[in-house]
Amino acid sequence: MSKKLYLDNAATTRVKKEVVEEMRQYFDEYYGNPSSSLYELGRKSKEAIENARKQVADFLNADEKEIYFTAGGSESDNWAVKGVAFANKNKGNHIITTKIEHHAILHTCEYLEKFGFETTYLDVDKYGMIDLEKLKEAIRPETILISIMYANNEIGTIQPIEQIGEIAQEHGIIFHTDAVQALGSVKIDVKKQHIDLLSMSAHKIGGPKGVGGMFIRKGVKIDNFIHGGGQERGRRAGTEGVQNIAGFGKAVEIAERDFDKHIARLTELRDRLIEGIKTNIPDVVLNGHPTMRLPNNVNFSYKYVEGESILLLLDMEGISASSGSACTSGSLDPSHVLLATGLDHGTAHGSIRFSISEEITEEDIDYTVETMKNIISKLRMMSPIKNDEDLKKGNSL
Ligand SMILES: *Cc1c(COP(=O)(O)O)cnc(C)c1O
Repeated sequence: MSKKLYLDNAATTRVKKEVVEEMRQYFDEYYGNPSSSLYELGRKSKEAIENARKQVADFLNADEKEIYFTAGGSESDNWAVKGVAFANKNKGNHIITTKIEHHAILHTCEYLEKFGFETTYLDVDKYGMIDLEKLKEAIRPETILISIMYANNEIGTIQPIEQIGEIAQEHGIIFHTDAVQALGSVKIDVKKQHIDLLSMSAHKIGGPKGVGGMFIRKGVKIDNFIHGGGQERGRRAGTEGVQNIAGFGKAVEIAERDFDKHIARLTELRDRLIEGIKTNIPDVVLNGHPTMRLPNNVNFSYKYVEGESILLLLDMEGISASSGSACTSGSLDPSHVLLATGLDHGTAHGSIRFSISEEITEEDIDYTVETMKNIISKLRMMSPIKNDEDLKKGNSL
């Protein structure tokens, strides 16, 4: 009973020890304001920020001047979409995105509709993949922005980013990608992939919460986001969270250093969990793409049972996981992502996402499979829904 297994790393991660160490000195030792460059303490803070900027730029194959720090992934997404929309409204009012974006994108697009902008939400196939032909068809003369996430937070599907970048470039449209889940899990090269804007968040990769970043390609037309002082070259004002930025830089440094090893290990653990569930539990559906998926993502629907009940029983066994996504749990509507892949409401309701980290072992995976096997069989015994016919009739539990 004392077992504790955290399998919700797509919601957030433990801050790495080296990151905490790096951050600590900026609380009580180097506490100067980075804008106060006339004395040593201020310069130390400034240096920390610029080191982190270089670190992030290197990791993306970007220039240091193209990296801006923000208060997280949601802020970066807001900045990208609103900033491009308002700066380019003389050129057009049309935005293309997908049905499976994070709410930081979807709700921002909805907000912009109040100002006369129009959005096309692209469909995805059963694996959560967009169709490049449909993307091309959606492009209009007034299209000013394509915003398509790099990898999905719920089902892990990785989009063909380089091809999307090429299409955007051919049409002279700005291309933004929410890479919050992809950072550290996928090789990102903003030059090769023709990315104009890219959102990041520190807390999904072993850094602190409340800090993130945005890559803005030189020359891209985008409004400033926070008006005030001259921080972040006047584009995002406010005294920098020096300790957070330093922590983000450290997390990126570690991600770059351990990249290959990290991916190989996670993939191995992920596939063991997928295989274990598939072979031990009947009537399950793997959500997301079988191969083009994040190395830490395992999302299944367990037919005839309800995700919330699974989570409660998992918690009693010491396992933390998620149903749908962290943002949708607590609401009764099934996840917009799962519905977009074509799942019916009933099946979507029985979905659980495990997102693993390198802290777990093969034994942990096997314990999870065994625990799930028991939980699902127990819940199915109590469930009034026994087959697809029942599911269709009730269409919900
Ligand atoms: C977590 C997440 C965000 C939001 O990032 P925050 O730093 O928590 O604001 C945005 N997009 C995706 C895909 C995410 O997974």
